[in-house]
Amino acid sequence: MKTSFSQRLLSLYSNYQNFMKGRYGFFDSLNKTLFVTSLILWLFRGVLFSELLVTVIYFVLLGIVVYRMLSKKIYVRSNENQKFLKATAKIRQFLANFSLAKRKTQGKKQTKSQANIQYVVFSCSHCGQSLRAPQGKGKIKVTCQKCQHTFVKEV
Ligand SMILES: [Zn+2]
Repeated sequence: MKTSFSQRLLSLYSNYQNFMKGRYGFFDSLNKTLFVTSLILWLFRGVLFSELLVTVIYFVLLGIVVYRMLSKKIYVRSNENQKFLKATAKIRQFLANFSLAKRKTQGKKQTKSQANIQYVVFSCSHCGQSLRAPQGKGKIKVTCQKCQHTFVKEV
């Protein structure tokens, strides 16, 4: 009897689960960093370093990632990750502060441009209430807040 595609997929999955049982199997921060580093190196192969060197480093880094994922020494692997996080804490803090500072200056720029808007002050032609509108808008229809009188004003 032929097995259906979904059955085959299911058995493949359970095989995978059996295989991964008791293994680290975790794409942790250290693995992520190694993986990203290897990708960046790969993109710059032949630019910053020679192609051969990059290829060697690339496969070594990927090898470490796969080795750590498949490792049965779960405790040792998670310890490695903790050490890595501790060692890079300052760098990550710096990067976090950097992006925060960048966001802050962007916020400042926005409030500055808002402050740069000039207003024209004029009075209502009906009741004399002083009103204001942003300068340079051309002819605008103004509704007085006090008496609801509408008139056209050029600003
Ligand atoms: Zn008015």
